[in-house]
Amino acid sequence: MTTNGTKSNGHTALDFKSFSNTINGKLVGTKKTQHNINPSTLEANPEVPIVSEEEVNEAVNYAIAAGEKWAEVPVKERQAAVVKFADALASYKDDFASMLTKEQGKPLMFAKMEVDSGVQWLKTQAAIEFPEETVEESDERVVVTRYTALGVAVAIVPWNFPIQLACGKIAPALIAGNALILKPSPFTPYCGLKLGELAQHFFPPGVVQALSGDDSLGPILTAHPGIDKVSFTGSTATGKRVMESCSKTLKRVTLELGGKDPAIICSDVDIKATAPKIAQLALLNSGQICIAIKRIYIHASIYDEFLAAMVEAVKSFAIGDGFKEGVYMGPIQNKMQFERVKGFLEELKEKKLDLAVGGDMKTVSDVGKGYFVTPTIVNNPPDDSRIVTEEPFGPIFPVLKWETEDEVVRRANDTLMGLGASVWTQNLETASRLAKKMKAGNVWVNTHLELQPNAAFGGHKQSGLGAEWGLQGLKSYCNAQTLYLRKK
Ligand code: NAD
Repeated sequence: MTTNGTKSNGHTALDFKSFSNTINGKLVGTKKTQHNINPSTLEANPEVPIVSEEEVNEAVNYAIAAGEKWAEVPVKERQAAVVKFADALASYKDDFASMLTKEQGKPLMFAKMEVDSGVQWLKTQAAIEFPEETVEESDERVVVTRYTALGVAVAIVPWNFPIQLACGKIAPALIAGNALILKPSPFTPYCGLKLGELAQHFFPPGVVQALSGDDSLGPILTAHPGIDKVSFTGSTATGKRVMESCSKTLKRVTLELGGKDPAIICSDVDIKATAPKIAQLALLNSGQICIAIKRIYIHASIYDEFLAAMVEAVKSFAIGDGFKEGVYMGPIQNKMQFERVKGFLEELKEKKLDLAVGGDMKTVSDVGKGYFVTPTIVNNPPDDSRIVTEEPFGPIFPVLKWETEDEVVRRANDTLMGLGASVWTQNLETASRLAKKMKAGNVWVNTHLELQPNAAFGGHKQSGLGAEWGLQGLKSYCNAQTLYLRKK
């Protein structure tokens, strides 16, 4: 950064004080505005626009025109532009991270890691080879399948990973030759709007637009006849509404939805090393991760010892404002979600389920006035209790006892969700046998939550439809077109 407010690569520096929509290359404010609340302090963050339906229509028209030209730009140039955009994001790492902690609540260390992931998700997807496929080459004819841009894509992003999930959609949409409209969650609009603003330095007007609105914006976009594709990440309930709305115009749709990931802990694990890891993976981002561990099946022979080691680990995690040094868990991101998590806790107490640790709300005197919840482990609740069947999306999870492989596989798969699953054992044969039986889109052995931008990511069952990232993700922003070229 230079002192005159410009970045060293020449473009005007972003400020993180005022926030606008980006429409056709221009920053646009609105008369009506809203703001979110910093979930750690309950103080108001800056105002953001509430886009009108008229402006949405304008943005879509600009996107249609810009998309047609962008699709003509050679793919190498589109990839190079995405890489430059990624470099610019990296140069603003501290600003984005600090805004992310203010709007989302996650500890600054993890906010910085999210910016790094955003950069990585942009760059790695820009490096994926995207060739035409020759299906047949004979004396008579050539048959080639190529992948062409759809037109205008919309990225609908939730509030748990506003930067990484946006970047995960921006890269493939643009590389495939589409224009993109980014719609951040009204709970976390700030970083998404700044990504839109920053993108203007690397893409022609109308290719990337970012719109902040109220709850009517998502449905307006999914119903809009000028939009060709919706990539949605959010809850399963909303995903179903998105699909229903998209069906009216047969929009292409990718859905990344909720999860209820099981982790199966076998009897031969190193308890001291594994138990704290499992607790960390269940409580990262205060449990607000689609692929967080949400059910822990521990073999009966080590159950008590493993649970005790987890409880010890959980008690050591510092909770508090994300700007405080050493904090591992921030608050729940918004009031609505906080009330939902509280509802789970109240029900656990009503049903007199055994809590191995936690069960209370952190109070003002403990950590501040934000939406804080103490991490809570529910000890061996019935399989049909809500904490086992539903996703609380907060720092509460059940541990369950298992005895035979057939039984644990059946119980782990006994859910409408199918996003992730993991198996923990030193015996790789057991690991492979159990892992292959998991009905989930992402299966890990001796780890969980490890993702990479060049591998397809998607959920089975009601955890999603289609996949993002990797070559499969790129193709999801395209039409397949097969050319049958007869030589004579
Ligand atoms: P949500 O479904 O409430 O909202 C997600 C986004 O959809 C927001 O931008 C919201 O404004 C928008 N939206 C709301 N109603 C809409 C409608 N009718 N039409 C179009 N858009 C609409 O989800 P959330 O509470 O923000 O996120 C938490 C959920 O997301 C959890 O269930 C979590 O598991 C899931 N999630 C899934 C993944 C994944 O990749 N599978 C990743 C992160 C989060």
